[in-house]
Amino acid sequence: MNAAAKRAGRIDLPRLIAVSKVQPDARIKEMLATGQKVFGENRVQEAQTRWGETFAQAREDIQLHLIGPLQTNKAEDAVKLFDVIETVDREKVIKALLKAADKAGRMPAFLVQVNTGEEDQKSGVLPQDLDMFLARLKSEYEQVPKGLMCIPPQDEAASPHFWLLKKMADKHELKTISMGMSGDFETAIELGATHVRVGSALFGARNYA
Ligand SMILES: *Cc1c(COP(=O)(O)O)cnc(C)c1O
Repeated sequence: MNAAAKRAGRIDLPRLIAVSKVQPDARIKEMLATGQKVFGENRVQEAQTRWGETFAQAREDIQLHLIGPLQTNKAEDAVKLFDVIETVDREKVIKALLKAADKAGRMPAFLVQVNTGEEDQKSGVLPQDLDMFLARLKSEYEQVPKGLMCIPPQDEAASPHFWLLKKMADKHELKTISMGMSGDFETAIELGATHVRVGSALFGARNYA
């Protein structure tokens, strides 16, 4: 990460989000022992077990990002558990978050997920709808996201998607740019990522069996 930042002539170092989903407790324990402070999870329930129970003590000192889609019926749990919700992409989601936040007395920061590859199966606001979505967030809900997030299509070069996300973030003066995973975090950093989400390259392969 530092080498990539240096290549790009960046002085602001990107943050590492350690994606702990599916990883065994022993690996997470080791990661915590290194002093890693930012973790990412893609499922609310799994995150709740891991960071609300198993590692509840460590939870106090870390920053937790939700990087998977948020089902509105999980909004209350998500608001209580996460510091940053990276996947806001519909008014229904922001509505549910605000309602839950009202109840919990705490509103996490959030990012807007952009479906840069315009994939049918993927969540995220379409690039052409982003201006409108951000305008609606502001006028209807008085909400401004901290930044943008994307997951490029698996079978394409990631760089055009990273470039596009950075351009959109700059246009709207949004500071946080969450992009890049194990296979492409260096490219993402060279193209302006402020946060990279790395799982397997950090912890080892996930065993879904
Ligand atoms: C799992 C996941 C990652 C991490 O993927 P790796 O390839 O293991 O680094 C990053 N972002 C999101 C949204 C994920 O779901």
